[in-house]
Parts: sequence; structure tokens; C-alpha cells
Amino acid sequence: MHFRWLLFGVPRSTSFFVCCVIALACGGAQSQTLADEPTTQPRRPPNIVFIFSDDHAYQAISAYQDERRLIETPHIDRIAAEGMLFRRCVVPNSICGPSRATILTGKYSHLNGFYNNSNCRFDGSQVAFPKLLQAAGYQTAIVGKWHLVSEPTGFDYWHILPGQGVYYNPPMIDNGRQVKHEGYTTDIITDLSLAWLKARDPDKPFLLMCQHKAPHREWEPALRHLGHDGDRVYPEPATLFDDYAGRGLAERDQDMTIAGTMTDRDVKLIAPANLTPEQRAKWDTYYEPRNRKFRDEKLAGRDLVRWKYQRYLHDYLGCVKAVDESVGRLQEFLDEHHLADNTIVVYAADQGFYLGEHGWFDKRWIFEESLRTPCVVRWPGVTKPHSTSDDLVSNVDFAETFLDAAGLNVPAEMQGRSLRPILAGDTPGDWRKSFYYHYYEYPVPHRVRPHYGVVTDRFKLVHIYGPDTDYWELFDRQSDPRELTSVYGRAEYAAAQSDLTQELARLRDELKVPAQDAPEASGRRLNTPRRRGP
Ligand code: CA
Repeated sequence: MHFRWLLFGVPRSTSFFVCCVIALACGGAQSQTLADEPTTQPRRPPNIVFIFSDDHAYQAISAYQDERRLIETPHIDRIAAEGMLFRRCVVPNSICGPSRATILTGKYSHLNGFYNNSNCRFDGSQVAFPKLLQAAGYQTAIVGKWHLVSEPTGFDYWHILPGQGVYYNPPMIDNGRQVKHEGYTTDIITDLSLAWLKARDPDKPFLLMCQHKAPHREWEPALRHLGHDGDRVYPEPATLFDDYAGRGLAERDQDMTIAGTMTDRDVKLIAPANLTPEQRAKWDTYYEPRNRKFRDEKLAGRDLVRWKYQRYLHDYLGCVKAVDESVGRLQEFLDEHHLADNTIVVYAADQGFYLGEHGWFDKRWIFEESLRTPCVVRWPGVTKPHSTSDDLVSNVDFAETFLDAAGLNVPAEMQGRSLRPILAGDTPGDWRKSFYYHYYEYPVPHRVRPHYGVVTDRFKLVHIYGPDTDYWELFDRQSDPRELTSVYGRAEYAAAQSDLTQELARLRDELKVPAQDAPEASGRRLNTPRRRGP
């Protein structure tokens, strides 16, 4: 095995062969030096560090240059500066578990079976990229948020949060054993990831999936980041007070507004229950004076929404700061151990998120803020620094990309495509120009009706359906970048609408989408047949 890695991907010249024999003869120390030595010609398959977060909006990464300039994220930005920033990485089903299942399997929800966060359990016996890497000799680890109910498969080491996990003093599951940690969860996940990297076998390539809970609701920052923004007043998005005119019932009747859905716990009028006395004291030192002022002011209407928006951003962005520090610590390790030149580093989230746009938090919709996930990739020797891509890529492509990078065959059942040529600066001429999206979970939580549709660089054609709803919408992002007015049925869009209708049917066929959703897809509790009569 050891010898195989040394010979991987390089000309098997006599001199190289002699070097390998000498390295083997001299033992592990020399071979480690060989393997860790910086080189532009990788001697073995690249290591993969996949740093993943939950609900991290691209608007909250400085490399994406959101017009509000909400935060600086120097460590995530470094990946982009030394590699590629994807401007349009989209997800097939914008919620936590389904996104994770898609990344592992390279498949849509209707084929991997994980439709929603309510009643699904990931079938760990199916083909997933970590298993294939493991079988090919990679060391594999996952640390942090798993959120797929069943136990991880395909990992030599797994140390995960149960379910959603908590921000402070988290119980975790260490390869099946329940443990309890004290501290801030983002830091603990990073510490555990680094400990595994240090203890790994340096003679084998590795896959590390470092998966944060942050910045998921309820957005609890590290104590060191309370007040990180110096009580800055953040700019509001143009659609904070969206009236949903121009769109249908589903957009009006959701349950994910800052105004109506955000709870006292969300805005820290109630402290988390699981803080230690010392943590609680620091927590109260920051929040209590501000909460007293808020209670005294008795805000209502738009003023109340504005206050909640400001509190939301302080907390959300505070969580992001710790995630960015984690990215910095992991990169520092790779630098210090001379691993950076043969390691692919990816930073991505499971989907996008609303930071007040349309008056919302949360995700789920086909609309841009939740459809697009941040994705930056550093791959020395393949990707040029400061690269950007506007290609329509997806997290359904990640599994295929990692397998391709490792020199392994991509199973035919996977539905994405390796991003390697794009990362190398050479987008294939037949790269996808349209993308299929399908959201299922309804009615709880957040009452977002199921919908599916086709997305292109300019348009979105969407079918919204459910027990009380059935309508179509068409958005033209060129004339309506904020997606505020459906132009479905307008004469001037007849040709585009017809083309998109055909393309949607083609994609559903190609991706093997069943005509009817599976009974469990919406996450509603399935009805058991009632007995009739006596
Ligand atoms: Ca998520």
C-alpha cells in the first residue's frame, strides 16, 4: 500500500523507482519527508480537508463582497485567494440533512432517500464517496455535525454531535461512545479535527470532514465574540419589509419571518439553559444591559423588526467569526506540516440562508439566497490563485470531484460531475446550463410549500404545490434580481416559458424524478389506515 502511494500519478522512471526503494529501506521517517515535501507534482493522491458549516450565507463571507459588507472572514477568503471562488454553487434541496446526504452520495434526495429533516434516516449501506476513498487506502474522518440519524459509515474515525447539537458544552458521540465536552462547540470540533490530523498515519492520504454546527439557529456566539461588532448598526437589506406582492400564497404564508417567527430564545432575551455558571456570567454581562434597554423601549412594529434584525446579525456573525478562526487553524496546521501543497481544501455550507432578505431567516426556497451555497476551493497545482467561476455547479458534484481527485472511478449512479476541469480553469463546453431543484418538507417547520423547478443563469421556472396550493411562477433575474415578481403567463415571456417547461421535463426525466413524490417525502407523519365500520 505504502509503495503504491509513492508511485501514484508520477512517471515511473528508474531514478524515481530508486528513490522509492531508498525511502522504503530507510523507514517511515524518510518516506514521511518525501510525502510531506512541498511539490507541484503530487506524488500521491491529494489529501482532502472538507470544512463545512451549517446555514452559512454567502452574504456573510467577505470574499463574496455582499453590498452590506457584513463581516471580514480572512481565513475563508484565503482559500478563495489561493484557489477558486464559485459564485453560483447551488443545492438541489435547501436544508441540512438532505444537503449532507447529497454530498455523500452524489445523488438527489429522491434517489438517496433523505428528503427532509423530519422523518428520514440515512441509509448508510448505499454508495458514498468516503467509503470509496477508504477502500482505496485513504484514512477517513468526520468530526462535528452529521445530522443523518443513522451512524456514519465509511469513516475510520467519527466524532459527531447528536442531532442538531448545541453550541456550548456539547454531548458528542465518539465512534459510538457517548462523551461530553466542555467549551464552545466550534472550537471543540476544530480541536478534535486537529488531534485526528496529528495522530493519523502520515504515509497514507486522508479525508477530513470538519463539519460545524455553526452558524445554525439559535446563533449563539463564543463568549469571546460577544460584542465583536462594537454595537455596529448593520445596513438593512432592501427587502426587509417585503410585502410578497407579485408572488403567490406560499411566499405570503410561510413561517420564517424575523417579524413573526423569531423567538425570544433566538434573540437572546432568554439565555441558553446549558451554560456553566462562569459562562452564564459572561453571557449576562453582554446581553443583560442591552436586553434591559430593549425592554424599557417597548418597541413595536417595524422598530421591533429592526431591533430583532440587528440582534440576529450580531449573533449570527459572531458564530461565523469562530468558524472563520477554525478555517484559519486548520490551514495553519497544513502549512506547518508541509501538507498544504498536496491537500485540497474546500469550504462550503449545506445551503444558503436569509439574513433579512424578504424579511426572512432560514432557507428552503429556490430563491437565490437559499439556493446558493458558499463554495471556495484551494487545490495547489490544479487551480490558479484568485480564480472565480460563474458556472452552474452544485454540491451534487462534490463526491464526483473528490473521487476524480483521488484517481478513482465515479460510479455511474452518481448524478453530478467532477469539478476538476472547472477548477483547472477549463470549463467543458457541455457543462450544465440548467439545474433541477426540489424541496419537500412541509408543513413543519416553517410552512414552506413543496416546490420544484429549473434554474438557469437568468430564469427560474417553479411549480409550487401542496395540499392547498398548485401554481407556477417564473422569475427573470436579469430584470428582477431580487425575485419579487413572477412573470409566469406574460406574453413577452411565452418563448422562454415554453423552453423552460421543456427543459424542466427533460431534467426530471434525466434525473429519474418520480411523477409523484414518495409518501414520506414531505416529512408529515404517515397516516395509518383507519378501520371503517364495525
Ligand atoms: Ca443547514
